[in-house]
Amino acid sequence: MAETGKLLETIPAEEQKTYDIIVIGGGPCGCTAALYGGRAGLSVLVVEALAPGGQMATTDRVDNYPGYPDGIGGFELAEQMKAGAERFGAEFASGEVKKVELGGKIKKIYTNSKEYWGRSVIAATGASPRELGLPRERELRGRGVSYCATCDGMFYRGKEVAVIGGGDTAAADAVYLSRICEKVTLIHRRDTLRASRAYLEPLKACGNVKILWNTVAEEILEKDGAVRGLRLKNVSSEESSELMVDGIFVAVGNVPNSALFAGCLRLDDNGYIMADSTTRTAVQGVFAAGDVRRKSLRQIVTAVSDGAQAALAAEEYIASQF
Ligand code: NAP
Repeated sequence: MAETGKLLETIPAEEQKTYDIIVIGGGPCGCTAALYGGRAGLSVLVVEALAPGGQMATTDRVDNYPGYPDGIGGFELAEQMKAGAERFGAEFASGEVKKVELGGKIKKIYTNSKEYWGRSVIAATGASPRELGLPRERELRGRGVSYCATCDGMFYRGKEVAVIGGGDTAAADAVYLSRICEKVTLIHRRDTLRASRAYLEPLKACGNVKILWNTVAEEILEKDGAVRGLRLKNVSSEESSELMVDGIFVAVGNVPNSALFAGCLRLDDNGYIMADSTTRTAVQGVFAAGDVRRKSLRQIVTAVSDGAQAALAAEEYIASQF
């Protein structure tokens, strides 16, 4: 963990270390940017609010990352990516970035307690699970509502749960939870899954996963402050029903973690940072990479690719400006 950040109002400016690259976010994109930056001989700091790995670290099994023919655990891959960056000298600091000042030649990054300086910044803040927006969803988070099957699935061993969504995450969650839970009901608002074909056979092979098609959740049913079920509506027949479950796993896509940059970088209508394919934003020395950048495909491999590209763009920028 880096100790070189300036404790707010305690270290004189002349003692503040200025990194070549500050990467905000330690997911696969951030770790790769750090590896490439460090390997190019640049000083790199990665600031990460939680554990490195981002969403990947909460994935039970990654089976489409090249080089792992038998698949690999998301957490394990995250640790390996961090170790790879550290091998080339990248430093990691934990802290949630609260404020950025990106306009000047020296960029300033603030967490609650520290200030970091960099010649360039790579925004690699990724995305977070989208909420359903149902009443009491937030207050029941951790009391039956979860956004991470691999993190929380074990709390529902032998119980009945629902997974809401029809994409890769929902399908993967349903397959994962079927191994732990008594019964899994996958609730999808349409009559076909968005999930890739690779998930269809594993889903079919689970004897305890039932799919409710054309169905949306309208209300979370609660008793004594914990989830007891869902009120559902079939969008074709308009019929309402109740489903009794102990846990609800929400897997309805992601929203970009871009609020931090709202005042200084251009965002598209969905909140993704606008940057070109080399990851350059409209602000000099600031690059946006990985799932937070506007692009068409968001996978671990594309996050990794963006990270390498961003490090190269930052290296070129530093060579031209400093
Ligand atoms: P996603 O692909 O955006 O799918 C979100 C799903 O949630 C869709 O089925 C969508 O329905 C549904 N949905 C969205 N809003 C909803 C709402 N308000 N109420 C009910 N349902 C709603 O998200 P994801 O599955 O999290 O995947 C995100 C990205 O990560 C994708 O690029 C995916 O390929 C990738 N990923 C890859 C893997 C892997 O390759 N192993 C694993 C996980 C995720 P509609 O289908 O009707 O739009």
